[in-house]
Amino acid sequence: MLGLLQRGGYELTSDEQKADILIINTCAFIESAKQESIDTIIARCERANHQKIVVTGCLAQRYSDELAETLPEVSVFVGTGEFHQIVKVCDLLTETATSTNGKPLILISSPQYLYDHLTPRVLSTPKHYAYLKIAEGCDKRCSFCTIPQMRGVHRSRSLDSLLAEARHLAESGVRELILISQDSTSYGMDLTGKRLLPKLLKNLTQVDGIEWIRVLYAYPTLVDEELLDVIVTEKKVCGYLDIPIQHIHDDILRRMVRKTTSAQLRRRITLIKHKAPDITLRSTVIVGFPGETEEHFKTLLDFIQEMEFDHLGVFAYSKEGGTPASKMKGQLPEEVKRERVERLIEIQKNIAFQKRRSYIGNEMIVLLDGFDENNCVVYARTEGQAPEIDDVVYISSPTEVAYPYSGKISIGEFVPVKIVGTYEYDFIGEVVR
Ligand code: SF4
Repeated sequence: MLGLLQRGGYELTSDEQKADILIINTCAFIESAKQESIDTIIARCERANHQKIVVTGCLAQRYSDELAETLPEVSVFVGTGEFHQIVKVCDLLTETATSTNGKPLILISSPQYLYDHLTPRVLSTPKHYAYLKIAEGCDKRCSFCTIPQMRGVHRSRSLDSLLAEARHLAESGVRELILISQDSTSYGMDLTGKRLLPKLLKNLTQVDGIEWIRVLYAYPTLVDEELLDVIVTEKKVCGYLDIPIQHIHDDILRRMVRKTTSAQLRRRITLIKHKAPDITLRSTVIVGFPGETEEHFKTLLDFIQEMEFDHLGVFAYSKEGGTPASKMKGQLPEEVKRERVERLIEIQKNIAFQKRRSYIGNEMIVLLDGFDENNCVVYARTEGQAPEIDDVVYISSPTEVAYPYSGKISIGEFVPVKIVGTYEYDFIGEVVR
C-alpha cells in the first residue's frame, strides 16, 4: 500500500498530525491482536480532527459490517482482497468531501489478489532486511484458525516474480531476505503440483548482494530431506527453521485438525536435528485448547523440555468465532490458560538461558541491526535470530557502542563478534577486529 500510494502521488508521513488520511492496517488473528487493532482505531477516531480514517487488513476483512455500525468516524474499510485499491480509495476521499452519506464505505471481497515484482514497494523495515512474501493464503483447515477465511486459498507467486523482486531489493541495499507466507513449505504446490521451496532458495542464493535468506512458517511435517539439504549446503540460506508444532498430544493434534501425529512430529524433528545438527529451531505452541487436560498439557511440557527449541512462542488458545474449535466442548477458563502459558514459559526460559550460556566464547557473524537510543547500545542478530520475534546480540565494546555512526561500524554491516555473556534470552557480544 505504501508503494502504491507513493507512486500514486501521495506523500507518506508517520506524523499523524500532518496527515490528511490515516490508514490503520489491522490484524485479527487472535483476541489480543483484535483488541489492539480496535483500541488503535478508537484512539485515532477520538483524536482525528480534519483527517479521514481508512481501516485496512484482516480486522476489516472479518468484521467490517459490525465495525461500520459502531465506528461511523471511519471513512472506508478495505479488506485483504482489495488493498491494491488503496490509491482509488484515497483519491475518492480527497476528491469528495462526503461521498459516503455519513456511513463508512466497505470494500471487501474474497481474497484473490497477489502482488508481484511490478508492484512498487516502500520498505517499513530497516533498509538492510526485507520480508519477501512468497505465497498468500492457506489450504490447511486447522480447527482454531481464521487465516484461511481472512487470506483465502493458498496461491504462490511465480519464481520469476520473486527473483525479480529479490534483485530490486538487493539493489536497494537489502542484505537479508525473510521468506514469509502462511505455509512456506507448500510454496509452488498450486503452480506445479510440487513443493518448490528448495528450488526457490537455490535460485535466490544467486542474487548478488543478498547474504542471508531465512524461511519462516514451515509446516513441520513438510520439512523434507531436499529442503534440509539446501539449508545445510547453501551458505546464504540461514541455518534456521521456524516449525510451528502447536501441540504434541495426539488427542489435541486431532482436535486441532493438524493432520499430523505426535510420532510424525517426533520423527521429523529428529530428522532435522540429524541432517542439520547446528540448525536453530523455532516453534510455536497453543496451550489451553478446548479439551486440553492437565495430562495433555504435561505431555507438551515434557516434550518442550526434551526437544529444547532455541526459540518458542507460547500462546493461550483464543476462541475465534466461525472456527470449528470455537464450538467445541471443553473450553477452558482464561486463568487456566494463563497459568499454563506461564508454566511453559518458565521451562523455556531455563532452556533458552542454558543454551545461550553454551555459546559463550564462540565467534559468530552478526548483522548489525540498529542502535537502541535508550540504552545507548548497538544490537545485532546472528543467523539464528529472526528480527522482531527472536532475541538479539547486544554489542558491548564501549568504543564501538559510543560511535555507531562514526564509521567504526555501521548498521546493516556484517561483523564477527565474540559472545562474552548472556541475559535471559539475549547475547552480549564484542566485535572482533
Ligand atoms: S497451517 Fe497455519 S495458517 Fe493454515 S490453517 Fe493451520 S494455523 Fe492457520
